[in-house]
Amino acid sequence: MKNYSCSKCPGYCCSYPEIEVTKGDIARLAKHFGVTAEQAEARFTKGTRLLRHQKDRIFDSVCMFLDQKTRRCTVYEARPGVCREYPDSPRCGYYEFLKFERTHQGDPKFIALT
Ligand code: SF4
Ligand code: SF4
Repeated sequence: MKNYSCSKCPGYCCSYPEIEVTKGDIARLAKHFGVTAEQAEARFTKGTRLLRHQKDRIFDSVCMFLDQKTRRCTVYEARPGVCREYPDSPRCGYYEFLKFERTHQGDPKFIALT
């Protein structure tokens, strides 16, 4: 059972500087956007099988596919395997931190999503 709720989190895991994509992940993204794998690799990766980033208002930068306002993945159906697997455990360390601080500070909006 999952002990975390991504819908209450600003997407910390999407701020990891190295979000790896495989050839299969690139092919899925290419199909999603109706472009070739070569175009997808050029547009969406840093050229080293890592997803490109964009500047962010909460973290330094986040994956180019994270919606800054909703804090949701804009390519959810076509997201890479590594995003499907994370955190690969019933608990998420960042969510534990958020939950603890929100309770401790009596502020359910600590690190607000919007
Ligand atoms: S950091 Fe944890 S709770 Fe937040 S979006 Fe990622 S997996 Fe979900
Ligand atoms: S593809 Fe989606 S889930 Fe994966 S890091 Fe980017 S925004 Fe987050």
